[in-house]
Amino acid sequence: MADNKNMLVRANLKQLKLPAMGGEFEKLAREAAAANEGYEQYLLRLTELEVAARASNAVQARTRAAGFPVAKDFDTFDFTAVPSLSKPKVLELARGEWIEQRTNACFIGSPGTGKTHLAIALGLAACRHGKRVRFATAATLVTRLEEAQKQYQLDRVLAQLDRIDLLICDELGYLSFSRAGAELLFQVFADRYERRSLLVTSNLAFSEWSQVFQGERMTAALLDRLTHRCQIFEMNSESFRFRESMKNKKSKKSE
Ligand code: ADP
Ligand code: MG
Repeated sequence: MADNKNMLVRANLKQLKLPAMGGEFEKLAREAAAANEGYEQYLLRLTELEVAARASNAVQARTRAAGFPVAKDFDTFDFTAVPSLSKPKVLELARGEWIEQRTNACFIGSPGTGKTHLAIALGLAACRHGKRVRFATAATLVTRLEEAQKQYQLDRVLAQLDRIDLLICDELGYLSFSRAGAELLFQVFADRYERRSLLVTSNLAFSEWSQVFQGERMTAALLDRLTHRCQIFEMNSESFRFRESMKNKKSKKSE
């Protein structure tokens, strides 16, 4: 009799698309009976499971959609390796209010200093806060925009980007763009001004950005928008990669 009832409950929960409750209701019922818990307490525990499972699935889906190249988080970031970087300021960004306020962040520094690592960790934190995030290198972003333009899909791609709360543009400055490509990237940056957040990492100091954007005027206009209400982090330490490989070499020598 109980089996029959449980089967019906399971079927109902399935139809109502409540899989976590469907999977756990019997176990929880046994626990509730053993602990002499009331009906409301049982229902509360059961619904909490479903709510938690949904939240976790949503974070997973947002993280997948963000397109991070690798998984990086703050727990593996050694802040002591970059003494010039303010750990409290970075962790403040991890709380996500800057995205609520539609402000920007820039990480500027030489290769291997952890810019991409922090950009991903901040993107992940934003996903956990329920934000829509996209990660792309500047080169990929420009290529995608140029392709879209060729196929008369630019408006659609721009509209997609417009729905993203945090756009991470990694590695600005490694490659320079064509005039048209630079203009497209400029358009994306300018469109987001005061409406959506942007996180940019670059190996170039701002004074050198005109190399990428070809022309002082476009660079000045872009920097004006980007850096107005922007947290700027300069990461000029020795390359972490380089230091790690030196450490390995030393330890091999002493073996
Ligand atoms: P950048 O983007 O500045 O060139 P990355 O973020 O790609 O540098 O860092 C290069 C590698 O070194 C990555 O594997 C990254 O996880 C690691 N790394 C860099 N800085 C740190 C750090 N301070 N603590 C831990 N790992 C780091
Ligand atoms: Mg990088």
